[in-house]
Amino acid sequence: MAEAQIEYPRVVNIQRIDPKFKHEIIRMPGAEGINLCFQCGTCTADCVISRFSGFYKPRRIARMVQLGLKDRLLSNDDIWLCTTCFTCVDHCPQGVEVSSIVRALRNMAVRENRVMPSVIKAFASNILKSGYVYLMPSSRLKRREAEGLPQLPRSRVEDLLELFKATGFMDVLESAESIDRIELKAGDRRG
Ligand code: SF4
Ligand code: SF4
Repeated sequence: MAEAQIEYPRVVNIQRIDPKFKHEIIRMPGAEGINLCFQCGTCTADCVISRFSGFYKPRRIARMVQLGLKDRLLSNDDIWLCTTCFTCVDHCPQGVEVSSIVRALRNMAVRENRVMPSVIKAFASNILKSGYVYLMPSSRLKRREAEGLPQLPRSRVEDLLELFKATGFMDVLESAESIDRIELKAGDRRG
């Protein structure tokens, strides 16, 4: 079956540029080096996602941040495709941490646009139930015991709930719209 083509605008509308955006990102831990990106493309060549996505290219993400294209980035579900494999970070000759920049973008998208993948909501719910991202099946716990492994540490989930509330995450969790599926987009392969 032919891949669906999608067009991305190649022209930057100056009205949509947010000059403060890059500075907001630079303040986020790990994202300080965005100005050092000189668009060599090494990150895109090595990124496990960019070969499958028409939009998601780490070099493009870095350039869009430099240009202040906040709306376009935060409204694009593709920012959730990054696997946080850190290949781009390992290979960048300038020491730019694109995966940390993407983390900063995701945090902003959650805070400002109130959107979040449903899988992240599920992880958060698991943490509130057990203290772990993954709900451990009882068969696994029994097997640990049979193998003579120590019990897993127990979390104080009531403290975690307080933390979720105090940081405002509980509010975000309840109000954020869920992203259930991100379609890989064909189209512009340049990145
Ligand atoms: S590898 Fe580093 S310098 Fe090169 S495009 Fe990617 S982020 Fe920019
Ligand atoms: S961390 Fe994300 S952007 Fe970097 S190579 Fe891995 S998938 Fe690509």
